[in-house]
Parts: sequence; structure tokens; C-alpha cells
Amino acid sequence: MSYHELAVERIKNIDAKQYIGVSNKRYSEFRSRGEYEVDARLIAEYYRRVGAYLQFISKEVTSIYAGMDMLIGYKMVDNEWDELLVKCPNFVEIDCMLMKLISIHYLRWCTLLDNSNNIALQFLDIYEPMIILFERGGGRISTHHHELVGGFGAFSRSIDAKRGDKKPIDISDNALKTIIEEIELAEAYLVEHKKGNLTEKYCIRCGNRLIIHYNNKFGQQWYKIKCETKDCFDNNFS
Ligand SMILES: [Zn+2]
Repeated sequence: MSYHELAVERIKNIDAKQYIGVSNKRYSEFRSRGEYEVDARLIAEYYRRVGAYLQFISKEVTSIYAGMDMLIGYKMVDNEWDELLVKCPNFVEIDCMLMKLISIHYLRWCTLLDNSNNIALQFLDIYEPMIILFERGGGRISTHHHELVGGFGAFSRSIDAKRGDKKPIDISDNALKTIIEEIELAEAYLVEHKKGNLTEKYCIRCGNRLIIHYNNKFGQQWYKIKCETKDCFDNNFS
């Protein structure tokens, strides 16, 4: 199978059920805290890969809307939106413009790979974090003013080449599973703690103690759960 054929298979197997009827819901009604932590990692890793690519092609910045092929001179053709729905009928019922657009860009990138485009071949997996995001149900993303909006916190709509200097993020199944487990553990820890249970819990990553810190600002109370190891687990909970 060609890169393009494999990509079409992946996109058309994205489960539409994850996206139907969610457009008016709050993020927290259909994604768990752990899931959107994963979403944030996937998006951060996409931005990092795009940053590295921008450095390679000597561009400073791009937007979440732009296809990577467009940055090296390729253009979208008029009927691509219609064509996507023919190739991937699961997208007919999905009302997520940005997810569809990025999927179109991904398919076009795979066509470049099939044509042995030298630049594309060096950034073979650039779209992988976003496709994993869509497959896992995190594709309800949109932009508002200058921000990319989802349950995961703030990303800017533009992607800066400096992002390419960041450390790569492990997006393997196992790594993503661990992120969810860590959040679930911390959530359960906090529930018990609020009930008065003072049993300590330990970090999944390093085995060190997890400490609950209280915060209160402007009348809002929240908790920070932090691993004793520096730069390890550190998350806010309400
Ligand atoms: Zn730790």
C-alpha cells in the first residue's frame, strides 16, 4: 500500500461516534481530565515537529490552518473538501472543520511521500500526533481569536519555529496510557484526601511521594498535586 492509501484507511476509520452531538457540550462532559492531558501532549508534540520543520525550510512561523506542503509551494485544489467526504464518508456527520482540514493536509503530505519528495521524507511523521489525537477522540479543536481552543488549555493559533527547540515528547501508546493513569491516581488521591484519609500516594513515574498543596486566590480554591522529584508530576486540580 502507498502512504496515501494507508493514510486514507486511517482517516476513514476514525470513529465518527466520538464527535457526533458534542459540539454544544462542554469539554469536561465528554473528555476526562486524563484524556485532555493526553490531548495537550499530542498538540505540543505536533507544534514541536512543525517547529523543527519550519527551521529546516527557514520559515519563522506558520498557522495551525496551513498544510505543511503549502509552505513549500503546493496548493490545495478546489474540490478537496468534497473529495475527502467521498474517500472518508465517516466525516460526513462530523462537524469539526479544523480536524477535516488537517486530515486533508495529511493526505496531501502522504502523496508527497509517495512521490519521494525529499523534504517530506525527512518529516515523514510530522502529522502523526494530530492523527493520533483525532483517532482518540480529541479532534474537537477550533480557534478563537489567536488561540487554539479545546479542553487542554492554551496554544496559540500560530506555530513558531522556536517550538522545534523543545524536547521531543513520547507519544507511544504506553506513554499516553501512563499520563491517564497518573491523572486518575491524582484525582482519586484528592477525593480520599478531602474525605480526611491521609494515606500517602506515590508517583507512577518515579515512585517518590506525591504532595497535595492548597491554593487559594481571589476566592477560588484549587489543589496542586506535585511529585517530590523535581520536574516530575505536577498538576492542578479543583
Ligand atoms: Zn515522580
